[in-house]
Amino acid sequence: MPEYDPSCYLCPGNKRAQGDINPKYESTFIFVNDYSAVKEEQAEYQQDDELGSTLVEKSQPLGIILTSAGLSSVLLKAEPVTGKCYVVTFSSMHNLTLADLKSPEIIPIISTWTQLYTAHISPKSPLAQAAKRTILPSDDHQNCLSRPHTQYRYMQIFENKGAAMGCSNPHPHGQIWTTTGLPEEPAAEQEQLMKYRRENGGANLLEDYAKLEVEKEERVVFKNETFVTVCPWWAVWPFELVIVARRHKRALVDFDDKERRNLAEAIADVTRRYDNLFETHFPYSMGLHQAPLEGTHDEIEASHFHIHFYPPLLRSATVRKFLVG
Ligand SMILES: [Zn+2]
Ligand SMILES: [Zn+2]
Repeated sequence: MPEYDPSCYLCPGNKRAQGDINPKYESTFIFVNDYSAVKEEQAEYQQDDELGSTLVEKSQPLGIILTSAGLSSVLLKAEPVTGKCYVVTFSSMHNLTLADLKSPEIIPIISTWTQLYTAHISPKSPLAQAAKRTILPSDDHQNCLSRPHTQYRYMQIFENKGAAMGCSNPHPHGQIWTTTGLPEEPAAEQEQLMKYRRENGGANLLEDYAKLEVEKEERVVFKNETFVTVCPWWAVWPFELVIVARRHKRALVDFDDKERRNLAEAIADVTRRYDNLFETHFPYSMGLHQAPLEGTHDEIEASHFHIHFYPPLLRSATVRKFLVG
């Protein structure tokens, strides 16, 4: 592929779908997604059945039977979710991927994620103090780094890489969805992290897990002082990996410069190994899990930074396992 593609909506200086022109950025660039999956404004959800007196009908001595209107209100529930979606480019070069970047070139991506996360943290969160120490933005991101009007609950930072994962543009980029709701996977994890913390005198499940894996050395793929990459015990995908912070870190804002360098090294290692495995641009869905933007003290303190990689390839560069969209 060329370093620059005049028809790519992510390349520096090019025009995007809504007519905005990208700046001539040099490493990362954030903008609000032109095709956001969730929006800041969302109509209230209307239940289509009339509720009220038709909700229940008294029947035989058995008690009450719900009418279809009543059943709808119990079983077919929906609620509006609002949020803000961003796109972040990983490089100005159209033809590079995370696997092609040297680890110092991945640091600006981590810094950009951290800045965006910081801009969305609730001022009441215990993380707000840590966020004050976070590196300040240096480049083109100002428009995304102002505090939104709504306090969102969670920020999901992720990358779908490769056409196999439904990624339509090869220009290296990831997405960020910030929503009023807590997505299912982090919600389920958070419940277990909190339970473990309660039952084990404040210990952290993933910190303990990382320690155990480092000791056992059976599933460790890479480690440095701050992170360990393992094929997790619970892996569902072939070649599934998780990068886990070795000491308790709630979120991106808990890392210092050295730890960010170590995270960049871990990400570079995973993505390069993947590409080398079948000598292909290895597709995957990668997502960061960390503390919610707003939550109780327990929720924030039980959170533990980690990154999942879910790759769809099985046996070769062309055989796919199908599980997610
Ligand atoms: Zn491009
Ligand atoms: Zn997770």
